[in-house]
Amino acid sequence: MKIFKKNILSILSITILLSACNAAEPATPTTIPVDAGATAVSMASTMAAETMAAIPTETALPTPTETPFYLTANIWAEEPRVPIINYHQFAPNTSLRSTDHKIRKRDFLDGLEALNQAGFTLIHLEDWINGDLYVPEGRRPLVFTMDDLFYNNQIRMGENGEPRRDTGLSFAWEYGQEHPEFGFKWSLFANLGDKWYADGDTEGKWKDELAQSIIWCLDHDARVYNHTYQHIRMDKSGAEGILWDLEQNDLFMRELLAKAGREDLIEGLGNMLAIPFGYWPEGSAYSATTNYITPEGEPMLGIFDIDWIVNGVKFMAPPYSPEFDPMRIPRIAMPPEAVEYLVEHQEEFPTMVACQVGPLDAEQVENQDYLREAIQASITSGSCPQGVYILEDYTFDMR
Ligand SMILES: [Zn+2]
Repeated sequence: MKIFKKNILSILSITILLSACNAAEPATPTTIPVDAGATAVSMASTMAAETMAAIPTETALPTPTETPFYLTANIWAEEPRVPIINYHQFAPNTSLRSTDHKIRKRDFLDGLEALNQAGFTLIHLEDWINGDLYVPEGRRPLVFTMDDLFYNNQIRMGENGEPRRDTGLSFAWEYGQEHPEFGFKWSLFANLGDKWYADGDTEGKWKDELAQSIIWCLDHDARVYNHTYQHIRMDKSGAEGILWDLEQNDLFMRELLAKAGREDLIEGLGNMLAIPFGYWPEGSAYSATTNYITPEGEPMLGIFDIDWIVNGVKFMAPPYSPEFDPMRIPRIAMPPEAVEYLVEHQEEFPTMVACQVGPLDAEQVENQDYLREAIQASITSGSCPQGVYILEDYTFDMR
Protein backbone atom coordinates (compact mmCIF):
# COMPACT_ATOMS: atom_id res chain seq x y z
CA MET A 1 0.00 0.00 0.00
CA LYS A 2 2.80 2.39 0.87
CA ILE A 3 4.66 1.60 -2.33
CA PHE A 4 1.46 2.12 -4.26
CA LYS A 5 0.95 5.52 -2.66
CA LYS A 6 4.48 6.60 -3.41
CA ASN A 7 4.11 5.56 -7.03
CA ILE A 8 1.02 7.69 -7.34
CA LEU A 9 2.89 10.58 -5.82
CA SER A 10 5.82 10.36 -8.15
CA ILE A 11 3.52 10.10 -11.15
CA LEU A 12 1.59 13.05 -9.78
CA SER A 13 4.72 15.12 -9.38
CA ILE A 14 5.64 14.43 -12.97
CA THR A 15 2.13 15.35 -14.07
CA ILE A 16 2.27 18.60 -12.13
CA LEU A 17 5.66 19.44 -13.59
CA LEU A 18 4.47 18.63 -17.09
CA SER A 19 1.35 20.72 -16.81
CA ALA A 20 3.30 23.59 -15.29
CA CYS A 21 5.77 23.56 -18.18
CA ASN A 22 3.24 23.04 -20.93
CA ALA A 23 0.35 25.10 -19.71
CA ALA A 24 -0.38 26.48 -23.20
CA GLU A 25 -0.25 23.19 -25.06
CA PRO A 26 -3.11 20.71 -25.28
CA ALA A 27 -2.85 18.50 -22.23
CA THR A 28 -1.03 15.25 -22.83
CA PRO A 29 -3.17 12.40 -21.59
CA THR A 30 -1.67 11.22 -18.35
CA THR A 31 -2.64 8.27 -16.31
CA ILE A 32 -2.81 8.04 -12.57
CA PRO A 33 -3.99 4.84 -10.92
CA VAL A 34 -6.96 5.43 -8.67
CA ASP A 35 -9.33 3.41 -6.54
CA ALA A 36 -10.65 0.51 -8.60
CA GLY A 37 -14.00 0.77 -6.84
CA ALA A 38 -14.50 4.19 -8.31
CA THR A 39 -15.80 3.02 -11.65
CA ALA A 40 -18.41 0.52 -12.55
CA VAL A 41 -18.80 -1.76 -15.50
CA SER A 42 -22.12 -1.34 -17.22
CA MET A 43 -23.63 -3.26 -20.05
CA ALA A 44 -25.69 -1.31 -22.52
CA SER A 45 -28.65 -3.59 -22.12
CA THR A 46 -31.05 -1.38 -24.07
CA MET A 47 -28.82 -1.42 -27.13
CA ALA A 48 -28.31 -5.15 -26.74
CA ALA A 49 -32.06 -5.64 -26.64
CA GLU A 50 -32.49 -3.52 -29.78
CA THR A 51 -29.84 -5.55 -31.59
CA MET A 52 -31.58 -8.75 -30.66
CA ALA A 53 -35.00 -7.41 -31.65
CA ALA A 54 -33.66 -6.40 -35.08
CA ILE A 55 -32.98 -10.03 -35.96
CA PRO A 56 -36.08 -11.64 -37.51
CA THR A 57 -37.26 -14.61 -35.49
CA GLU A 58 -37.26 -16.99 -38.48
CA THR A 59 -33.60 -16.43 -39.27
CA ALA A 60 -32.39 -16.42 -35.64
CA LEU A 61 -29.41 -18.69 -35.38
CA PRO A 62 -27.83 -20.07 -32.23
CA THR A 63 -24.58 -18.18 -33.00
CA PRO A 64 -23.61 -15.76 -30.18
CA THR A 65 -24.43 -12.11 -30.87
CA GLU A 66 -21.72 -9.70 -29.76
CA THR A 67 -23.12 -7.50 -27.01
CA PRO A 68 -22.03 -3.87 -27.23
CA PHE A 69 -19.86 -3.21 -24.19
CA TYR A 70 -19.66 0.14 -22.43
CA LEU A 71 -17.85 1.44 -19.37
CA THR A 72 -19.08 4.27 -17.17
CA ALA A 73 -16.49 7.03 -16.93
CA ASN A 74 -16.64 9.59 -14.14
CA ILE A 75 -15.58 12.98 -15.40
CA TRP A 76 -14.52 16.34 -14.04
CA ALA A 77 -15.68 18.42 -17.01
CA GLU A 78 -14.90 21.55 -14.97
CA GLU A 79 -12.05 21.89 -12.50
CA PRO A 80 -13.25 20.68 -9.10
CA ARG A 81 -13.03 22.95 -6.04
CA VAL A 82 -12.91 21.25 -2.68
CA PRO A 83 -13.82 23.25 0.41
CA ILE A 84 -12.20 22.03 3.63
CA ILE A 85 -14.20 22.96 6.71
CA ASN A 86 -12.48 22.96 10.08
CA TYR A 87 -14.35 22.10 13.28
CA HIS A 88 -13.01 22.22 16.82
CA GLN A 89 -15.23 21.31 19.76
CA PHE A 90 -18.91 20.71 20.44
CA ALA A 91 -21.39 22.17 22.90
CA PRO A 92 -24.82 20.97 24.08
CA ASN A 93 -27.96 22.60 22.76
CA THR A 94 -28.43 24.22 26.17
CA SER A 95 -25.51 26.56 25.37
CA LEU A 96 -26.60 30.05 24.46
CA ARG A 97 -24.99 30.00 21.02
CA SER A 98 -22.27 28.40 18.91
CA THR A 99 -18.85 30.07 19.14
CA ASP A 100 -15.73 29.95 16.93
CA HIS A 101 -14.45 26.97 18.88
CA LYS A 102 -17.57 25.21 20.11
CA ILE A 103 -20.52 24.43 17.88
CA ARG A 104 -23.86 23.38 19.34
CA LYS A 105 -25.24 20.00 18.35
CA ARG A 106 -28.30 21.59 16.72
CA ASP A 107 -26.25 24.03 14.62
CA PHE A 108 -23.83 21.27 13.65
CA LEU A 109 -26.59 18.95 12.46
CA ASP A 110 -28.39 21.78 10.63
CA GLY A 111 -25.10 22.37 8.79
CA LEU A 112 -24.74 18.72 7.77
CA GLU A 113 -28.29 18.68 6.44
CA ALA A 114 -27.83 21.94 4.51
CA LEU A 115 -24.58 20.73 2.94
CA ASN A 116 -26.14 17.40 2.03
CA GLN A 117 -29.13 19.14 0.43
CA ALA A 118 -26.68 21.32 -1.52
CA GLY A 119 -25.17 18.17 -3.05
CA PHE A 120 -21.95 17.86 -1.07
CA THR A 121 -20.41 14.48 -0.25
CA LEU A 122 -17.55 13.89 2.17
CA ILE A 123 -14.27 12.61 0.74
CA HIS A 124 -10.99 11.60 2.35
CA LEU A 125 -8.42 14.39 2.22
CA GLU A 126 -5.54 11.95 1.89
CA ASP A 127 -7.19 10.10 -1.01
CA TRP A 128 -7.77 13.32 -2.94
CA ILE A 129 -4.15 14.43 -2.51
CA ASN A 130 -3.06 10.97 -3.66
CA GLY A 131 -5.02 11.40 -6.89
CA ASP A 132 -8.32 9.64 -6.20
CA LEU A 133 -10.72 12.31 -7.44
CA TYR A 134 -13.90 10.27 -7.34
CA VAL A 135 -17.23 11.41 -5.94
CA PRO A 136 -20.60 9.96 -6.96
CA GLU A 137 -22.21 11.42 -10.08
CA GLY A 138 -23.94 14.75 -9.45
CA ARG A 139 -22.20 15.32 -6.11
CA ARG A 140 -19.68 17.93 -4.95
CA PRO A 141 -16.60 16.92 -2.93
CA LEU A 142 -16.26 18.30 0.59
CA VAL A 143 -13.72 17.69 3.35
CA PHE A 144 -14.38 17.80 7.09
CA THR A 145 -11.46 18.31 9.44
CA MET A 146 -11.38 18.65 13.22
CA ASP A 147 -8.52 20.08 15.27
CA ASP A 148 -7.22 19.79 18.83
CA LEU A 149 -8.32 16.17 19.40
CA PHE A 150 -8.97 14.43 21.76
CA TYR A 151 -11.57 16.17 23.92
CA ASN A 152 -14.47 14.35 25.58
CA ASN A 153 -17.01 16.43 23.65
CA GLN A 154 -15.41 15.43 20.33
CA ILE A 155 -15.51 11.70 20.97
CA ARG A 156 -15.58 9.44 24.00
CA MET A 157 -16.55 5.80 24.01
CA GLY A 158 -19.55 4.54 25.96
CA GLU A 159 -19.86 1.21 27.77
CA ASN A 160 -21.39 -0.42 24.68
CA GLY A 161 -18.22 0.19 22.65
CA GLU A 162 -19.87 2.95 20.60
CA PRO A 163 -19.17 6.68 20.88
CA ARG A 164 -21.29 8.37 23.55
CA ARG A 165 -24.38 10.01 22.09
CA ASP A 166 -23.42 13.45 23.36
CA THR A 167 -20.17 13.72 21.37
CA GLY A 168 -19.63 15.50 18.06
CA LEU A 169 -18.32 12.55 16.08
CA SER A 170 -21.27 10.51 17.31
CA PHE A 171 -23.74 13.04 15.83
CA ALA A 172 -21.80 13.02 12.57
CA TRP A 173 -21.60 9.22 12.50
CA GLU A 174 -25.33 8.83 13.02
CA TYR A 175 -26.07 11.39 10.31
CA GLY A 176 -23.69 9.65 7.91
CA GLN A 177 -25.34 6.27 8.55
CA GLU A 178 -28.78 7.75 7.85
CA HIS A 179 -27.51 9.68 4.82
CA PRO A 180 -24.96 7.52 3.01
CA GLU A 181 -24.96 9.97 0.07
CA PHE A 182 -23.30 12.43 2.47
CA GLY A 183 -21.28 9.85 4.38
CA PHE A 184 -18.85 9.96 7.27
CA LYS A 185 -15.22 10.76 6.44
CA TRP A 186 -13.01 12.91 8.64
CA SER A 187 -9.44 14.08 9.01
CA LEU A 188 -8.68 14.59 12.70
CA PHE A 189 -5.67 16.67 13.72
CA ALA A 190 -4.63 15.66 17.23
CA ASN A 191 -2.49 17.12 20.00
CA LEU A 192 -1.98 14.10 22.20
CA GLY A 193 0.35 15.76 24.70
CA ASP A 194 -1.42 18.94 25.78
CA LYS A 195 -4.26 17.50 27.85
CA TRP A 196 -5.58 14.56 29.77
CA TYR A 197 -8.58 12.73 28.43
CA ALA A 198 -11.67 11.06 29.85
CA ASP A 199 -11.75 11.70 33.62
CA GLY A 200 -8.08 12.66 33.70
CA ASP A 201 -7.24 10.25 36.52
CA THR A 202 -3.72 10.36 37.93
CA GLU A 203 -3.28 6.58 37.55
CA GLY A 204 -3.35 7.05 33.80
CA LYS A 205 -6.47 5.05 32.96
CA TRP A 206 -7.37 7.93 30.67
CA LYS A 207 -4.73 6.62 28.28
CA ASP A 208 -6.64 3.36 27.81
CA GLU A 209 -9.81 5.32 27.12
CA LEU A 210 -7.92 7.54 24.70
CA ALA A 211 -6.57 4.48 22.90
CA GLN A 212 -10.10 3.09 22.50
CA SER A 213 -11.32 6.37 21.01
CA ILE A 214 -8.41 6.55 18.58
CA ILE A 215 -9.05 2.96 17.56
CA TRP A 216 -12.74 3.60 16.94
CA CYS A 217 -11.84 6.59 14.77
CA LEU A 218 -9.27 4.69 12.72
CA ASP A 219 -11.73 1.80 12.26
CA HIS A 220 -14.51 4.15 11.12
CA ASP A 221 -13.11 6.49 8.46
CA ALA A 222 -11.98 9.20 10.86
CA ARG A 223 -8.25 9.27 10.15
CA VAL A 224 -5.88 10.78 12.70
CA TYR A 225 -3.06 13.18 11.79
CA ASN A 226 -0.64 15.58 13.46
CA HIS A 227 -1.39 18.96 15.06
CA THR A 228 1.86 18.87 17.13
CA TYR A 229 2.12 17.10 20.51
CA GLN A 230 1.64 20.23 22.62
CA HIS A 231 -0.19 22.55 20.23
CA ILE A 232 2.95 24.67 19.88
CA ARG A 233 3.50 28.10 18.35
CA MET A 234 5.50 26.90 15.35
CA ASP A 235 6.44 30.50 14.45
CA LYS A 236 8.30 30.70 17.75
CA SER A 237 9.91 27.24 17.61
CA GLY A 238 13.22 26.10 16.22
CA ALA A 239 13.75 23.15 13.89
CA GLU A 240 14.76 20.79 16.69
CA GLY A 241 11.79 21.64 18.87
CA ILE A 242 9.39 21.20 15.98
CA LEU A 243 10.82 17.81 15.06
CA TRP A 244 10.56 16.66 18.67
CA ASP A 245 6.95 17.81 18.90
CA LEU A 246 5.87 16.23 15.64
CA GLU A 247 7.58 12.96 16.44
CA GLN A 248 6.36 12.82 20.03
CA ASN A 249 2.75 13.02 18.82
CA ASP A 250 3.36 10.14 16.43
CA LEU A 251 5.24 8.03 18.98
CA PHE A 252 2.60 8.46 21.67
CA MET A 253 -0.19 7.42 19.30
CA ARG A 254 1.77 4.32 18.29
CA GLU A 255 2.44 3.51 21.95
CA LEU A 256 -1.29 3.72 22.72
CA LEU A 257 -2.21 1.52 19.77
CA ALA A 258 0.44 -1.07 20.65
CA LYS A 259 -0.63 -1.17 24.29
CA ALA A 260 -4.23 -1.77 23.17
CA GLY A 261 -3.12 -4.61 20.91
CA ARG A 262 -3.85 -2.78 17.65
CA GLU A 263 -0.38 -2.47 16.10
CA ASP A 264 -2.12 -3.49 12.86
CA LEU A 265 -3.44 0.07 12.55
CA ILE A 266 0.03 1.62 12.54
CA GLU A 267 0.91 0.85 8.93
CA GLY A 268 -2.18 2.71 7.71
CA LEU A 269 -1.25 5.92 9.51
CA GLY A 270 -0.44 8.85 7.24
CA ASN A 271 1.63 11.99 7.62
CA MET A 272 -0.24 15.28 7.41
CA LEU A 273 -0.08 18.35 9.62
CA ALA A 274 -2.42 21.19 10.52
CA ILE A 275 -0.45 24.24 11.67
CA PRO A 276 -1.64 25.25 15.18
CA PHE A 277 -3.26 28.72 15.25
CA GLY A 278 -2.21 29.12 11.60
CA TYR A 279 1.17 30.48 12.80
CA TRP A 280 3.66 29.15 10.26
CA PRO A 281 7.30 28.31 11.00
CA GLU A 282 9.98 30.02 8.91
CA GLY A 283 13.45 29.26 7.58
CA SER A 284 15.05 26.08 8.94
CA ALA A 285 12.01 25.48 11.14
CA TYR A 286 9.83 25.47 8.02
CA SER A 287 12.20 23.06 6.24
CA ALA A 288 12.18 20.76 9.26
CA THR A 289 8.39 20.74 9.14
CA THR A 290 8.04 19.93 5.45
CA ASN A 291 10.80 17.30 5.69
CA TYR A 292 9.39 15.53 8.73
CA ILE A 293 8.94 11.79 8.22
CA THR A 294 6.97 9.44 10.46
CA PRO A 295 8.58 6.61 12.46
CA GLU A 296 7.62 4.31 9.54
CA GLY A 297 9.30 6.59 7.02
CA GLU A 298 6.23 8.25 5.49
CA PRO A 299 7.14 11.68 4.05
CA MET A 300 4.96 14.73 4.73
CA LEU A 301 1.96 14.52 2.38
CA GLY A 302 0.13 17.74 3.16
CA ILE A 303 0.25 20.78 5.43
CA PHE A 304 -2.91 22.72 6.23
CA ASP A 305 -3.55 26.35 6.95
CA ILE A 306 -6.58 27.87 8.59
CA ASP A 307 -8.30 31.07 7.55
CA TRP A 308 -11.50 32.99 8.14
CA ILE A 309 -14.09 33.18 5.41
CA VAL A 310 -14.08 37.00 5.63
CA ASN A 311 -10.53 36.92 4.21
CA GLY A 312 -11.85 35.44 0.98
CA VAL A 313 -12.90 31.88 0.38
CA LYS A 314 -10.09 29.51 -0.57
CA PHE A 315 -10.41 25.93 -1.75
CA MET A 316 -8.26 22.90 -2.46
CA ALA A 317 -7.40 22.54 -6.13
CA PRO A 318 -7.11 19.11 -7.76
CA PRO A 319 -3.59 17.66 -7.46
CA TYR A 320 -3.11 17.89 -11.25
CA SER A 321 -3.56 21.68 -11.16
CA PRO A 322 -0.44 23.89 -11.15
CA GLU A 323 -2.17 25.82 -8.35
CA PHE A 324 -2.10 22.81 -6.07
CA ASP A 325 0.49 23.23 -3.30
CA PRO A 326 0.37 20.25 -0.92
CA MET A 327 2.53 22.13 1.58
CA ARG A 328 -0.03 24.94 1.98
CA ILE A 329 -3.60 23.77 1.64
CA PRO A 330 -6.28 26.21 2.81
CA ARG A 331 -9.02 25.38 5.27
CA ILE A 332 -12.06 27.40 6.28
CA ALA A 333 -12.76 28.24 9.93
CA MET A 334 -16.09 29.16 11.52
CA PRO A 335 -18.32 26.33 10.31
CA PRO A 336 -21.74 28.05 10.51
CA GLU A 337 -20.63 30.92 8.27
CA ALA A 338 -18.72 28.56 5.99
CA VAL A 339 -21.76 26.31 5.59
CA GLU A 340 -23.97 29.28 4.83
CA TYR A 341 -21.53 30.44 2.15
CA LEU A 342 -21.24 27.00 0.54
CA VAL A 343 -24.98 26.50 0.40
CA GLU A 344 -25.53 29.93 -1.10
CA HIS A 345 -22.75 29.46 -3.67
CA GLN A 346 -23.26 25.75 -4.34
CA GLU A 347 -23.47 26.24 -8.11
CA GLU A 348 -19.85 27.44 -8.11
CA PHE A 349 -18.77 23.96 -7.02
CA PRO A 350 -18.77 21.59 -10.00
CA THR A 351 -20.29 18.14 -9.70
CA MET A 352 -18.85 14.98 -11.16
CA VAL A 353 -20.58 13.85 -14.34
CA ALA A 354 -20.82 10.34 -15.77
CA CYS A 355 -20.71 9.19 -19.38
CA GLN A 356 -20.82 5.86 -21.23
CA VAL A 357 -17.61 5.19 -23.14
CA GLY A 358 -17.86 2.66 -25.94
CA PRO A 359 -18.76 0.39 -27.57
CA LEU A 360 -15.59 -1.32 -26.40
CA ASP A 361 -13.80 -4.52 -27.11
CA ALA A 362 -14.06 -6.25 -23.72
CA GLU A 363 -10.73 -7.96 -24.25
CA GLN A 364 -8.86 -4.67 -24.54
CA VAL A 365 -10.24 -2.73 -21.58
CA GLU A 366 -7.12 -3.42 -19.52
CA ASN A 367 -5.11 -1.52 -22.12
CA GLN A 368 -4.64 2.14 -21.16
CA ASP A 369 -3.88 3.29 -24.69
CA TYR A 370 -6.99 1.57 -25.97
CA LEU A 371 -9.12 3.23 -23.28
CA ARG A 372 -7.63 6.64 -24.04
CA GLU A 373 -8.47 6.23 -27.73
CA ALA A 374 -11.99 5.13 -26.85
CA ILE A 375 -12.47 8.19 -24.62
CA GLN A 376 -11.11 10.42 -27.39
CA ALA A 377 -13.57 8.87 -29.84
CA SER A 378 -16.46 9.51 -27.43
CA ILE A 379 -15.37 13.14 -27.05
CA THR A 380 -14.95 13.61 -30.82
CA SER A 381 -18.39 12.14 -31.48
CA GLY A 382 -19.86 14.55 -28.93
CA SER A 383 -21.29 11.83 -26.71
CA CYS A 384 -18.97 12.64 -23.79
CA PRO A 385 -17.47 15.98 -22.60
CA GLN A 386 -13.83 16.95 -22.37
CA GLY A 387 -12.35 16.75 -18.87
CA VAL A 388 -10.40 14.65 -16.45
CA TYR A 389 -11.67 11.08 -16.73
CA ILE A 390 -11.69 8.36 -14.11
CA LEU A 391 -12.09 5.08 -15.93
CA GLU A 392 -11.20 1.63 -14.66
CA ASP A 393 -8.08 2.03 -12.53
CA TYR A 394 -6.85 5.14 -14.29
CA THR A 395 -7.20 8.88 -14.54
CA PHE A 396 -7.01 10.36 -18.05
CA ASP A 397 -6.47 14.05 -18.53
CA MET A 398 -8.62 14.74 -21.62
CA ARG A 399 -9.05 18.50 -21.32
ZN1 LIG B 1 -5.49 23.83 17.16
